[in-house]
Amino acid sequence: MVNKRIYLDNAATTPVDPRVKEAILPYFSDKFGNPSSIHSFGQETKAAIEKAREQVVGLIGGSVDEIVFTSGGTEADNFALEGVAFANEAKGKHIITSSIEHHAVLECCKFLEKRGFSVTYLPVDESGVVSPESVVRAITDKTILVSIMQANNEIGTIEPIGEIAKAIKMRNAELGIRSYFHTDAVQTAGHIPVNVNELGVDLLSISAHKLYGPKGVGALYIRKGTKITPFLHGGGQERGRRASTENVPGIVGFGAAAEIAAGDVNNGESKKLIPLRDKLINGILEKITDARLNGHLTQRLPNNVNVSINYVEGESMLLNLDLEGIAASTGSACSSGSLEPSHVLRAIGLPYEQAHGSLRFSLGKNTTEAEIDKTIEVLRKIVLKLREMSPLKKGGK
Ligand SMILES: *Cc1c(COP(=O)(O)O)cnc(C)c1O
Repeated sequence: MVNKRIYLDNAATTPVDPRVKEAILPYFSDKFGNPSSIHSFGQETKAAIEKAREQVVGLIGGSVDEIVFTSGGTEADNFALEGVAFANEAKGKHIITSSIEHHAVLECCKFLEKRGFSVTYLPVDESGVVSPESVVRAITDKTILVSIMQANNEIGTIEPIGEIAKAIKMRNAELGIRSYFHTDAVQTAGHIPVNVNELGVDLLSISAHKLYGPKGVGALYIRKGTKITPFLHGGGQERGRRASTENVPGIVGFGAAAEIAAGDVNNGESKKLIPLRDKLINGILEKITDARLNGHLTQRLPNNVNVSINYVEGESMLLNLDLEGIAASTGSACSSGSLEPSHVLRAIGLPYEQAHGSLRFSLGKNTTEAEIDKTIEVLRKIVLKLREMSPLKKGGK
């Protein structure tokens, strides 16, 4: 029997749910109208987009006129940061973010720095948590935007977004300013409850392919009254906030995926990964010496396992796992030695030998207990083998 491959890289992307695929297919052929056309072909696809918008609202709350479809999480983040920065620069040019954001936020901040904005990169604690107090302390009368991710894609730490939002509002009132609050919810939407009003955010980014939808489509939630400059200029699509003919099949698939994901979060289905996640964490920590868990023990995504294993390189483990048909990911630099480990592992202050042996396993709704058992056993053997050969090894099994 051919061994089935094991996919534990769902934080990178998820497979499209078969129900989502079914929903998409007609929009490549029979239902191809341009949603801006007035005739029935256009009305058909226009209606499909508006249904998807309602399905996205069903996942994250807010109202349909606060949702703008984008080409993915990256565009949603870029739109939020640059759109708010350029629309509000007369009020101030200060932005606050954290040192563990996704590159879609961090690279945007670097770009804005070159355009004359100043950015404060807040540190995190050893679990990757941003403290609300540190946000408040960083706010000045020139602050126009704060962007803190709801959960980190590498180490799975869930940030106290609701508390940060409250703290920002209080500080805004004291200073008599209106700084906006954006959160990147790409890793959380469809995995844990996400509601824009409960969180108290002004802007929120999501992406379809992280929740069993297609790649190349996402959305930015923009609270009514938020001053934001469009990112794409052209036609009047998305109420003038995002030009370009809509990605109809993508948006239809996103809507279908959002509806399924909302159901899974509400009926507790998404929580079912927690025991599997904990089994993998405990299995690794018990079976492999000199291993540690990265990220927060409890404030953690249900599907995220990130471990550091001493005396072995992350990339060597990754390649060996791949040879055994197991897909994971690493934040460790390649074994050539010159590259730094990921900015997230550096921000939580991992010492050199632990930052270089990191592995991320991200579970998905198709992950089984047998796959977890096999992964633990295969990894144990790989680590034994690599440590035999390792010049870094100072002992242990
Ligand atoms: C994947 C991801 C993104 C980028 O989303 P794309 O749709 O791939 O552009 C942004 N932020 C986080 C936290 C992510 O995990």
